[in-house]
Amino acid sequence: MPWRVAPADRKAGVLPDPYAVWMSEVMLQQTTVAAVRDYHRKFMAIWPTVRDLAAADDADVMAAWAGLGYYARARNLLKCARAVVADHDGVFPDTYDALLELPGIGPYTAAAVAAIAFDRPETVVDGNVERVMARLYDIHAPLPGSKAELTARAAELTPQTRPGDYAQAVMDLGATICTPRNPACGVCPWRDDCAARIAGTAAALPKKTPKKKTPTRFGIVYVARREDGAWLLETRPERGLLGGMLGWPGSDWSDDPAPEPPFEAEWTALGEEARHTFTHFHLRLKIMTAKVALGTKPACGEFLSQGKFNPTALPTVMRKVFDLAHMTLRDD
Ligand code: SF4
Repeated sequence: MPWRVAPADRKAGVLPDPYAVWMSEVMLQQTTVAAVRDYHRKFMAIWPTVRDLAAADDADVMAAWAGLGYYARARNLLKCARAVVADHDGVFPDTYDALLELPGIGPYTAAAVAAIAFDRPETVVDGNVERVMARLYDIHAPLPGSKAELTARAAELTPQTRPGDYAQAVMDLGATICTPRNPACGVCPWRDDCAARIAGTAAALPKKTPKKKTPTRFGIVYVARREDGAWLLETRPERGLLGGMLGWPGSDWSDDPAPEPPFEAEWTALGEEARHTFTHFHLRLKIMTAKVALGTKPACGEFLSQGKFNPTALPTVMRKVFDLAHMTLRDD
């Protein structure tokens, strides 16, 4: 992982760059290492220091984040970088409490950055660590109710020596050996002490309270192209889902959305919907398309010329809409 320090360097006392660690932890919230790796490299190449990121244009950062999802994280990334520069002279604070004061940093991220970047004995508990603790102590109470107990167990084990390495080691153990379906107990360093392995219950843990069925919401988006090739796009409001990201104008997302075209035109419905799943709901977007004249004045958003519009700057759901709609609106 690009944000890690090699074991030999670590042994020689080299600590990781807190900026790189913090960025990795923000990106990894709700996202896999495989998905984050390239984004982390890209961000570090474009904005190698927290000062560079703090000085970046919001739109450039949101565009670089496009596709990684959970866009509130990108907005918080910027807010946090600016707070580090404004309030801490560009140097990340090195304690849990001070990190927790920064925008967008919750208890998990504060503990992870304090432990990994500053070798503080903080308890870092992600899904992998919860699984390892549930098995090590054969805890059958279901998540999320058992979180406090699992965290308390993890805290008991957190050492004063090399806590940063320890935090990463337990997370890695969960990611690579103590995996959800087939834990490789034979090669696990904790196999002799593991209560679930001894009881034969490891693969069934941790137990989880069944989730409610995910609801489906509906929406209507309007994809308009002007005769000079420009596309009508809007920046979504800061607050709310996909806040601050570029998108197609449209209705709210609900059980029964009302049509809200940005102007009168001959709107044609595409035969196919765009479908996307967010954390708490499935979304089905009806796509309306129109080709419009040069003088068209939209009620919202603005026309972006062909040269300025970059589809990769769209969040995934809006990109799906573009992929479905652009053939209908291609240059004749
Ligand atoms: S012995 Fe098996 S179940 Fe227990 S911690 Fe190791 S991999 Fe997980």
